[in-house]
Amino acid sequence: MTDRIAYTKPSITDLEVAYATDAARTGWGNKCYDYITKFEEAFAAHLGVPHAIATSSCTGALHMGFAALGIGPGDEVILADTNWIASVAPIVHLGGTPVFVDVDPTSWCLDPDAVEAAITPKTRAILAVHIYGNLCDMDRLHDIAARHRVHLVEDAAEAIGSVYRGQRAGAMGVFGTFSFHGTKTITTGEGGMFVTSDPDLYNQVLTLSNHGRTKGDTRQFWPVEVGFKYKMSNIEAAIGLGQIERVETLTHRKREILEFYRSALLTVGGMTMNPEPPDGRNGAWMPTVVFAPQTGITRDRVISAMKADGIDARIFFEPLSSLTMFEDAPQNSIARDLATRAINLPSFHDMTAAQQERVVRVVLGCMK
Ligand SMILES: *Cc1c(COP(=O)(O)O)cnc(C)c1O
Repeated sequence: MTDRIAYTKPSITDLEVAYATDAARTGWGNKCYDYITKFEEAFAAHLGVPHAIATSSCTGALHMGFAALGIGPGDEVILADTNWIASVAPIVHLGGTPVFVDVDPTSWCLDPDAVEAAITPKTRAILAVHIYGNLCDMDRLHDIAARHRVHLVEDAAEAIGSVYRGQRAGAMGVFGTFSFHGTKTITTGEGGMFVTSDPDLYNQVLTLSNHGRTKGDTRQFWPVEVGFKYKMSNIEAAIGLGQIERVETLTHRKREILEFYRSALLTVGGMTMNPEPPDGRNGAWMPTVVFAPQTGITRDRVISAMKADGIDARIFFEPLSSLTMFEDAPQNSIARDLATRAINLPSFHDMTAAQQERVVRVVLGCMK
């Protein structure tokens, strides 16, 4: 039996171990926020934004951000149908209405024309999710958001390392969010980040994130509103600090792996992979291949071939509108079609060339 190939696993070095050990030994009492502050500052600097708040998850960061924007009952938020449920759950929890639109066939992110067509007097925000590291068409989305006076928010959980016309993913919206779940390019086990360039929004979310207690309030235990408890621990932040100090290495390796797959698969014909954005860079969180019908390769064929070879298979996201708790949206035909003939490929940091070649062999073996 050949070794099993995981689709993802983190890269943890002595640096992260040393920081986490130090946090566990000494990061208490008046030092209990030291690594959190350092991680937030390093993350904000990497992104080129003034404000970052470490959170327990990306979902929590989105929840607080949308709450601070005042999203509630009667408000519509437009997002792509191709998405993980974490992006939409906070909107539902706040009583808002998610509106799922079709995706662009090349970027697999929301189609700006579909966004424009979905705008109503109830629209309050557009949620741009940079799927698998691919970038949304931010120029057009900014234009649409400005003309209709709605917020443009970025869920950049999958897009650390992605750059669009000189700006990093997550730094272009009214706020941006990130995830440090164990499968993501940088991880803290579980964790997330809220980022913004708007000082008022920053202060609002800072208060929300601390159970409604305002920074600098001298009164003890005095919330001024009902907030949330979505904070990151100092020990998690210590791991995060080590990871963000290595972010160039981590994203460089992701891009190398994507490039290897591109050179091995795209020459065959009938396949497409994550595109590079205009004047930018794809952070390559999740190398993904879409098979044209003439290749004879389907998602289900690849999944069984990968399983048989001991390779973890991960499916392309099914449209959220196909889940039972949402209204069906069969008109989103590109989102539906993509899910049946696409697959994510393994891409962990320490993957060997032999392992990548094995993945390519199995994929190509599925051609008719
Ligand atoms: C992983 C992910 C999330 C959820 O992140 P958590 O930290 O698990 O809450 C949200 N949005 C996108 C696009 C993701 O990939």
